[in-house]
Amino acid sequence: MQKYLVILLISISTLTGCGVPEKERRTDQSNSDNNTPLTIVASFYPLAYFTQEIGGSFVEVTTITPAGAEPHDYEPSPKEIAMISDSDLFIYHGSGFEPWAEDIAQNIGETNVPGLEISSAFQLMPIPAEEHDEDELLAFDPHIWLDPVLAQEEVGLLRDQLEKLDPEHGKDYQERAEDLLFRLQQLDEEFQQGLKTCLLNESIVSHNAFSYLGRRYGVTFTGISGISPEAEPSAMHLAKLTDLVREKGITVIFFESLVSPKLSETLALETGITTLVLNPLEGLTAEEQKNGTDYFSVMRDNLDHLKIALQCQ
Ligand SMILES: [Zn+2]
Repeated sequence: MQKYLVILLISISTLTGCGVPEKERRTDQSNSDNNTPLTIVASFYPLAYFTQEIGGSFVEVTTITPAGAEPHDYEPSPKEIAMISDSDLFIYHGSGFEPWAEDIAQNIGETNVPGLEISSAFQLMPIPAEEHDEDELLAFDPHIWLDPVLAQEEVGLLRDQLEKLDPEHGKDYQERAEDLLFRLQQLDEEFQQGLKTCLLNESIVSHNAFSYLGRRYGVTFTGISGISPEAEPSAMHLAKLTDLVREKGITVIFFESLVSPKLSETLALETGITTLVLNPLEGLTAEEQKNGTDYFSVMRDNLDHLKIALQCQ
């Protein structure tokens, strides 16, 4: 009786593949060759940047939201949708940030392209009810990549996913991710130091993208627009902002490179103060891409500008 059981167990283990060489078991044809990089599509810049940094030459990352465009309300072309369904992995934020990406992820679910919804691993901050537009799908603040500590968690998720898809290069992904995590830790320390001793702890920004950054380093950011960059502020809201500028002695209002600076400039003119860029890193402009600008250089520029605005030592 026992003998039969042993034979049965051996045949089961053979059937489930334990004895089959790793290479022959691979079902993913596109990456069966060691030298073919994984083709990965990301919905917008920070996710694409982190993935490329972790993957190095083993991945080829394409960003859907083009240079100079906002991911919140981008509409991908049929060609871009086809590119996603031909890829090895589609990475997006989710939770209403880029609704088009969630639609695509749902539809490609049937074609075996894995979709990685980054936001599902995070406890996101709810958006206050007064900031919801009528057609606003967003209930939770998406801008986690602007907090260098939460960005480290994103990197961990991306590393794990690459390892899972391509275990042969797992060690490379781990090492490259280690390096990226170290650079993010350094960035966090620079923010901690830079924003430690400041005269102000309040600031006005173009749209409400900096809540996670503010929570991390003790700064309250008020948006001229709400969570969506294009939302028009009411006259009442603008009057409130003017009061805030005068009450707190704010001397700088921030604007961003992907959104028209008109509102920030109008408000600055009205209150007689200056404007500076605070970049929410939802994408780079074509010029920024050409200059070799990346996540880290933008974050350091942001820190420099914050130190001016908040009058830090
Ligand atoms: Zn945003």
